[in-house]
Amino acid sequence: MKIAWRLTLWYTAALVLVLAAVLAAVFFGMQHLLVSQAEREVRDAASRIEALITSPEGGGGNHWHIDLDDPELTQVAGSPILWVQITGPQGVVQRSHSLGQAMLPAYSGPPVERELFGEQALLYGRQFAGGSVQIARPLTQEYRFLFNLLRLSLLLGSVGVVLAALGGLTLTHLALQPVENLTRTMLSVGPEDLTQRVKLSGPHDELWNLAQAFNRMLDQLERGFQRQREFMAAVSHDLRTPLAVVKSYAGLISRWGKDNPQVVAEAIEAINRATGLMERLANDLLLLMRVQSPAGVRQEDLFLDELAEEIVADAVVLAEGVTVTKSDFPPAPIRGDKDYLRRAIWALVDNAIKYNHPGGKVIVSLTTTGQEARLAVEDTGPGIPPAEIGHIFECFYRLDTAREQGKGFGIGLCLAKNIVEAHGGRIEAQSKPGQGSRFTIVLPLRSS
Ligand code: ADP
Repeated sequence: MKIAWRLTLWYTAALVLVLAAVLAAVFFGMQHLLVSQAEREVRDAASRIEALITSPEGGGGNHWHIDLDDPELTQVAGSPILWVQITGPQGVVQRSHSLGQAMLPAYSGPPVERELFGEQALLYGRQFAGGSVQIARPLTQEYRFLFNLLRLSLLLGSVGVVLAALGGLTLTHLALQPVENLTRTMLSVGPEDLTQRVKLSGPHDELWNLAQAFNRMLDQLERGFQRQREFMAAVSHDLRTPLAVVKSYAGLISRWGKDNPQVVAEAIEAINRATGLMERLANDLLLLMRVQSPAGVRQEDLFLDELAEEIVADAVVLAEGVTVTKSDFPPAPIRGDKDYLRRAIWALVDNAIKYNHPGGKVIVSLTTTGQEARLAVEDTGPGIPPAEIGHIFECFYRLDTAREQGKGFGIGLCLAKNIVEAHGGRIEAQSKPGQGSRFTIVLPLRSS
């Protein structure tokens, strides 16, 4: 069943219950009021009759014949005439004209409702010295009024319930319209078309927020899919060159290699270089996937200064035509994964060597300030133009010069950033074109 119908059904049922309760309260309240009023009337009339019969002025208890049809006695303003019957020691002494030939039962006691002569009536009997008086009062008018009131209320109530149900159904339909729009858009969205958006209209209510959240989710999905597509394109593009190298040298060997050891040696070296490149790319991609996984990185106690010392020592040996130096490193205890951090620091040092002038310098320094360790790698290379510096941490982003020279896949800084962020740190980049660049890894120090 649709929500609109369900809601309408629920609140219509609630409305009917409330109306029934109100009607019952009004009916029984009015009935109690009217019957109490009638009770007071019969008791008053009985008191007056008893006083007339038993008072000294009235004959001191033997003046049985009084005017029972005196309006003062048996008729209260606006109320119907009472039926009165006086019973003396020898039986019924007198009856009011309103009784005609009929006789009231010889009842004595508090007012009770009885059916008398085909009508609902209130009967009261009072005993006094030597006799008693029975008074009855028809309740026909009161009950007619009450039942008319009930019928009218039921009629108006039913019309009200039907109108409220119809109005409620229409309003609920209108209120849920955005949900239907949302569902339609959700159904039309798929990986092949993520450009659809829900039209945001109407008041800024919960449904508007839901539609906005859905649109935001689609934005993120679209960006994610786009990045994934670019990523795949970049990986396949970067794999093509080394693969082409391997293929062409393999062809060369098969054609000329058997007789020419020089061709074989050249081919083996080229194939080694190409497969080495592919291996590096595959390893970096694997690392990137792992560091971005929800499992995150290992957290073990280590010293950043020791790790940086090892990397600088390697760099001094491997750097060709560039001088790598370091400042004094203070102890920098941190928590993290040694292998990942080594790769991140190496990415910065490797770049500082790769993108440097022949004879240039690389300076690695480490400082600790308050809660942080700051490892800076500075070079004297060509620097990075300000317009590009915001992009260099994107995966597969390379400056044109680097792309031309085929110095890397554009994954080093992206990987380094992901690794450092997985350790709760950040990387800062500063560069002055023509003078050099400075990359700083900032990591939280271990609190002992
Ligand atoms: P790669 O792995 O190809 O070196 P990176 O992600 O490490 O790629 O760097 C992205 C781009 O940023 C490089 O292509 C290069 O153009 C530029 N870059 C990085 N480090 C430096 C640097 N120290 N000096 C100049 N340019 C740099």
